[in-house]
Amino acid sequence: MTAAAPTDEPGAELRDVTVEVAGRRILDRVDLEVRPGELVALIGPNGAGKSTALSTLAGDLPPTAGRALIDGVDAHRLRPLELGRRRAVLPQQKGVSFSYPVREVVAMGRTPWARTPEASHDDERIADALARTGVAHLADRDVTTLSGGELARVSLARVLAQGCPITLLDEPTDALDLGHREQVLALAAGLAHDGGAVLAVLHDLDLAAAYADRLVLLHGGGVVAEGRPEEVLIASRISEVYDHPVEVVPHPSSGVPLVLPVRPPSRQRVSGTLDA
Ligand code: ADP
Ligand code: MG
Repeated sequence: MTAAAPTDEPGAELRDVTVEVAGRRILDRVDLEVRPGELVALIGPNGAGKSTALSTLAGDLPPTAGRALIDGVDAHRLRPLELGRRRAVLPQQKGVSFSYPVREVVAMGRTPWARTPEASHDDERIADALARTGVAHLADRDVTTLSGGELARVSLARVLAQGCPITLLDEPTDALDLGHREQVLALAAGLAHDGGAVLAVLHDLDLAAAYADRLVLLHGGGVVAEGRPEEVLIASRISEVYDHPVEVVPHPSSGVPLVLPVRPPSRQRVSGTLDA
């Protein structure tokens, strides 16, 4: 096989990808893949390169070196319409600046399917996406009037309505409360269970450990660990990468790793505040 040959492997993949912007190396020889049937959590501190990796995987940002493959084809060779039928992306910035009813925002996810047989399912897919993200009651609301958490779920509904085999979610839970976080990750795991290739950038390591099949830890533009949650969430490694001491303990009922930041005892914290 030559270096440029397609592989026909379904899913999204970065192969030895370097991204430089304005002379600065943001990703450094990253290998990353998400395949049908798996939920991958991309974790790492602020500025690690997670969003850049996700945009490159999505085919929205061309690598400086290496290859970004979607279903085995170099992403930059796919036309926007083809990209839109293969992968759906929830960006980190979920703002919508125009006044639209929520239903129409979700319907925008259907754009890539216009004038195809799949378009006959538009109404069904939109209703299903609104229901699964718990925002059906907001369907007629002006999107600019939503709370941050509501807007995040509407944005996710748009991504679901797109109905792609590859789903890439950048911090899908950042504006959400505890219950909605669990629901969104259960939904992402459900997509993978149904055969989707799903990658989510997550800051909540416990959530990542509980729901993802595999974690990829990015730091300083490179992958520093990858594997099952208990393989990646090692206290010494997480403490170093996040520059804060942590303990990792098993969840009392599930046994899945929980990452606990080391904190001063509460009395000391109170006196610290009073002294300051
Ligand atoms: P993460 O999502 O992990 O927080 P990003 O991928 O957004 O990180 O960014 C990684 C680093 O690259 C950051 O230091 C960010 O400031 C920088 N960066 C990202 N995009 C650009 C850009 N277009 N121009 C300059 N620097 C950028
Ligand atoms: Mg980011």
